[in-house]
Amino acid sequence: MEKSFDLPVIGRELPPPPVDVDEDLKNNLLVTSVDTIMNWARSSSLWPAMFGLACCAMEMIATATSRYDIARFGMELFRPSPRQADMMIVSGTVTWKMAPAVRRVYLQMAEPKYVLAMGGCAIMGGPFAYGYSTLPGVNRIIPVDVYVPGCPPRPESLLVGLMMLQEKIRKETIAGKRHRIEPTPDFSQFLPPGDPVRRELDSLYPPFLKA
Ligand code: SF4
Repeated sequence: MEKSFDLPVIGRELPPPPVDVDEDLKNNLLVTSVDTIMNWARSSSLWPAMFGLACCAMEMIATATSRYDIARFGMELFRPSPRQADMMIVSGTVTWKMAPAVRRVYLQMAEPKYVLAMGGCAIMGGPFAYGYSTLPGVNRIIPVDVYVPGCPPRPESLLVGLMMLQEKIRKETIAGKRHRIEPTPDFSQFLPPGDPVRRELDSLYPPFLKA
């Protein structure tokens, strides 16, 4: 068999040394999990639905001004369409009359969606608790992820609540189910049978029959 020899060629430039692959990867490769990437993307670009119910909404609006700058969290895009929103900030008193509209907006939002109850009214009825007109907590009609108490909570409180929501999202996994307490469609304690609001609310739960 013929043998070949690599003899050095005098006077010719030698080829560059082979690239150190390990060193190259060290500078350019990021190894992470799908969960981390998804959660990072989701928690850094929450788009709130643009709506407010009462005085707490003023504080929510103030959070979007330059002094508090909700844009730092990628959350400044308050969307006028629930189809483009994945976060609901319930800022204000939720009356029974308004309850079906709030649940309808929630149902139309994109999954995975998150809810923050802002202020005493949204959490438990606030100063109107025990009144005939007000829901004793928005968690009666939609699942809530974070509660921010106050009457009204200041923008700083809302920002802390939003950061808590981000923390919560970062612990999620796409492989598992979200742990949330879903409301039960039982309004017999608050509304009489045949009440139009009760009928409408009932129609907004599976199997979604017409009111
Ligand atoms: S919690 Fe207080 S500030 Fe907020 S909507 Fe209710 S009454 Fe208004």
